[in-house]
Amino acid sequence: MNTIDLRSDTITHPTDEMRRAMAEAKVGDDVLGDDPTVRRLEELAASRMGKQDGLFVPSGTMGNLISQMVHCGRGDESILGDQSHVFWYEQGGSAGIGNIHPRTLPNSPDGTIPLEMIEAAIRPDDIHFPRSRLLIIENTHNRCKGTPIPLTYMKAVRKLADRHRLNIHVDGARIFNAAAALEIDIADLAGPADSITFCLSKGLAAPVGSVVCGDRPFIGKARRIRKVLGGGMRQSGILAAAGIVALETMVDRLADDHANARALALGLSQIRGLAVDPDKIKTNIVYFDVVTDEVTALELTQLLDKSGVRMLASGPGQIRAVTNYHVGSGDIEQATSVIREAMASV
Ligand SMILES: *Cc1c(COP(=O)(O)O)cnc(C)c1O
Repeated sequence: MNTIDLRSDTITHPTDEMRRAMAEAKVGDDVLGDDPTVRRLEELAASRMGKQDGLFVPSGTMGNLISQMVHCGRGDESILGDQSHVFWYEQGGSAGIGNIHPRTLPNSPDGTIPLEMIEAAIRPDDIHFPRSRLLIIENTHNRCKGTPIPLTYMKAVRKLADRHRLNIHVDGARIFNAAAALEIDIADLAGPADSITFCLSKGLAAPVGSVVCGDRPFIGKARRIRKVLGGGMRQSGILAAAGIVALETMVDRLADDHANARALALGLSQIRGLAVDPDKIKTNIVYFDVVTDEVTALELTQLLDKSGVRMLASGPGQIRAVTNYHVGSGDIEQATSVIREAMASV
């Protein structure tokens, strides 16, 4: 049975070209600064993002934590959305490890945070208050239906941040999806950020890793913090080699994932008992609702599993499907008909 795995874009395996590059990579001890392949990835990533320098890290979670710890000192406050990945899925590491005080504000359905809310949340200089230091924007916004945050919004938060001397970190785990969906240059989209983290291990299909980008002093401090968190790696050029191939070969095809996600949403919207608005699907993440009493989201995913279609229940009445490199347009048709049959059987 052909399994169609739509649980996440993190399930993607490295391509043959990545495996070859990994086998042949020139390596050295990266903690000693000796790995030419890691350096090449960091420089390539920085140049794509329009930043001075980059730092290869094991995961997006570590990249976000390091960035927050560079921007904020002990007890400083960071402003972030209440639907953000940093707030939900990173174990509260910014507080638990970074000693950073999180101030959450409600995300709008499009993943932005209203500017006036941000402005109102910024603390005046007062001995009672923590110091507002950082604003975190997630792009694309995972829990807000994978929505890309547009450049106009990024420019507006930049202005606001400048007025109040806040730094901006972009959790750009899927920033390449955002740039593809918005049809703009990635460096323009990353321009307003002081720092940005992106994942090589999601839609770009590399096996491991993320890159943090920012100016040279920022990356210098980030390198120090990566070491204390246990993220100093040795012959990591083996991994970085796949990351280079990811950046060179896997970016242009993300538009296919977006078209497949939209096709899936369109198919699902025509199945009785399911609800999704295909026009809201801009990138590779499809959240849809199970709107019948006959089956729960979890039961439906278990049923689909038996027919080789894998998705994750993301709430009592909600399922998440993420298109990726291993899922073609034919698979989307097949998945849709499997789901239609499953819904007819409950
Ligand atoms: C996946 C993800 C991360 C974390 O990346 P890991 O490599 O899984 O630690 C951070 N932010 C967002 C929005 C993500 O989707």
